Amino acid sequence: MSSQPHTVLPWVVRRTRLPLVSLRCADCRSESATAGEGRFRVNANGKLLDVWLLVRCVSCDRTSKLTVHERVPVRSLDPDELDGYHANDRELVAATLLDPLLARRNRFALDWTGAWRLDAPSAWLDEAWPVRVEVIFQDPVPARPERIIAQGLGLSRNEVLRRVKCDVPLSRPTRAGFSFTVLAAD
Ligand SMILES: [Zn+2]
Repeated sequence: MSSQPHTVLPWVVRRTRLPLVSLRCADCRSESATAGEGRFRVNANGKLLDVWLLVRCVSCDRTSKLTVHERVPVRSLDPDELDGYHANDRELVAATLLDPLLARRNRFALDWTGAWRLDAPSAWLDEAWPVRVEVIFQDPVPARPERIIAQGLGLSRNEVLRRVKCDVPLSRPTRAGFSFTVLAAD
């Protein structure tokens, strides 16, 4: 009969805090560091600037510097951006830490464990099936669609595999939005 999916309110993936930084500590060999509240260090050398984002080892507190800018001409930086570095602007800290360029340049990965949540409007038991849901990522959390869907629907992974059609591979981590359709239970 009705095969046209019924579209419901989108789900939203968002971060609840800054992710940890997987980076080996030179002192204690721990592999986890935190940006804490977020602190930059700016060093001027003539007309050249270095900017680092500071992170602390979660085990021994040793501070490491992640290179944000290295010997760049002062004039090449947007004055607002420069003010943000001096003021440890929280938005700029987050944007800098989440920028894939920073991770590549400093050879670390982000650890998102416990740093995000899924806002899914409550279940829609009375809706007509099938139901179509769009998942929006406010932050680039690398999560598997099957996990997000299982969590949002309160279903087992097997049930997700049986009842869900997703427009991206279910088991491959994604950082971008996707949509899926849930079929009726039987
Ligand atoms: Zn350490």
